[in-house]
Amino acid sequence: MKVVIVGGVAAGMSAATRLRRLDENAEITVYEMGKHVSYANCGLPYFVSDVISNRSDLLLQTPKSLHDRFRLNVKVAHKVNAINRESKTVLVQNLNTGELFEDNYDQLLLATGAKPRTLSIPGIERALTLRDVSDADHAKAAAETLVSKPNASIVILGAGFIGVELAENLAHLGIRVTMVQRGRSILSQFDTEMIEPMQAHLEANGIQLIFETEATEVTDKSVKLANGDLIAADLVFSAAGVEPDNALAKAAGLKFGQTGGLWVDDQQRTSDASIFAAGDAVEKLGELTGEQTLIPLANLANRHGRLVADVMAGLQVKSHHALGTAILGAFGLAVGITGLSETAAIRAKIKHQVIHLHPGNHAGYYPGASRVSMKVLFDPQSGRLLGAQAMGKEGVDKRIDVLSTAIFSELTIDDLMDLELAYAPQFGSAKDAINQAGYVGNNVFRGNTKTIQWHELDAAILGGATLVDVRTSEEIMNGAIPGSINIPVDELRERLHELAGKDVIVHCAVGQRGHTATQLLKAYGIRVRNLDGGYATWRAGLDALKR
Ligand code: FAD
Repeated sequence: MKVVIVGGVAAGMSAATRLRRLDENAEITVYEMGKHVSYANCGLPYFVSDVISNRSDLLLQTPKSLHDRFRLNVKVAHKVNAINRESKTVLVQNLNTGELFEDNYDQLLLATGAKPRTLSIPGIERALTLRDVSDADHAKAAAETLVSKPNASIVILGAGFIGVELAENLAHLGIRVTMVQRGRSILSQFDTEMIEPMQAHLEANGIQLIFETEATEVTDKSVKLANGDLIAADLVFSAAGVEPDNALAKAAGLKFGQTGGLWVDDQQRTSDASIFAAGDAVEKLGELTGEQTLIPLANLANRHGRLVADVMAGLQVKSHHALGTAILGAFGLAVGITGLSETAAIRAKIKHQVIHLHPGNHAGYYPGASRVSMKVLFDPQSGRLLGAQAMGKEGVDKRIDVLSTAIFSELTIDDLMDLELAYAPQFGSAKDAINQAGYVGNNVFRGNTKTIQWHELDAAILGGATLVDVRTSEEIMNGAIPGSINIPVDELRERLHELAGKDVIVHCAVGQRGHTATQLLKAYGIRVRNLDGGYATWRAGLDALKR
């Protein structure tokens, strides 16, 4: 079997090495148009700031090491210019010499990835992008020239994952960074109240965030915005998302989906049975929406690359759909997401119930405990988990990964109560944050408690509801919801007469004492709802709205 692979990084190299492990006799050639193969693109932002100081740490393999161990024929600086599906050949150009030649295949894998989206505005050619090691070399060199320049300023167009990672790393170099984002928040995968603390954290660390406008021109020294502002910019990065790099597949007449990604079946086969595709170039099927989607993430690229090798080697493999599990850290704070956000569920018209909670990352009595703020979505009929977001200093990765596994396994919100998770005080709690999500969700799912969301509160109060803050009077000094009356939870039994006959909403700091208050008032026949996620969620939602 003669296999040609176009693209030698995540999907391409996963396929190549796996195929060799399955088939010692396959002839495997990888063409990569860049200078490097199998490099760590996810590490590139950290190389720009010298957090990863050794460039060679990014280069995981070389053509020689891949030949020595796997007998792969890896050609860097070789671009595949065309595919002839009739003759099953590819037209390859050696970018060093300009030489053109043909190579034939029995099976072809397109793993051409995604390229930075180009903004069509004057002067955009001055903006740098970050896709590969050469880009990172340029970015690092350009940023270093600014380190000693007084008042140097960098503007990043776009506040997605790569933009925010770049911002953090450039700020580490001591350079002023401004991010311009067309939408209302950074990292649009997240719901606004869940991402707001990260936005505030970026600002607290010196990053300027500008929302709901876009760059209209990049000039020699500045960026012009649609809102009329002019921002000084010694250096500009364009990080306005990525799009599938599919020129080759398009010219070959392969089928595309509506997302602009290459269409593949559940075995990663394109509309041509001899041609496979995997990675960022390809559209994926969303597990929860059943819709085609673009998810440019490394896990899926590696997973699907490996799957292609299995199929080529004749193994029976089951493909799993995509959840879009992702995480980002900046200045010591992390945000993670898996499955559907509330925004995505609404867009896809998927019925859902929402809970927010703010448990500790580990036992509160052990030094260094901090909050993990979580939002979990589940199906109101079956309880099946649909999505989760988490934010905090520590323990976000663990909770998102457990929840991703739970969604993958089609667990319900009730099941979270019974997950047996490792516990010692420095790692978690006997009732882990995940178990607590189960308790909170179970109460809501089974109708034991009624909740109201932060964005529904104003309308409820306008409609005559009485908002009762059950925190202590000391806590309230740090901020209270306008219109609330304060009855600490421990005084509720004595002051029931103040609430008799009223439509009551209770809230505390994070929702837990609010739940206790809800149960107590319910026992005395008072109609009561708990503000989901308490003051913390309401505050984050309000701050996001105020932007
Ligand atoms: P790529 O890894 O991009 O590889 C495609 C390769 O194909 C490229 O090297 C390209 O040169 C080559 N190619 C294209 N056309 C041709 C042609 N005609 N001939 C020859 N070669 C060709 N994902 C995460 O999950 N977590 C992260 O933290 C994360 N951080 C990232 C940070 C950065 C800066 C970037 C750029 C990406 C990051 N990603 C991250 C995304 C992740 O790297 C991608 O999802 C993954 O690499 C996609 O794999 P792929 O094989 O589809 O494409």
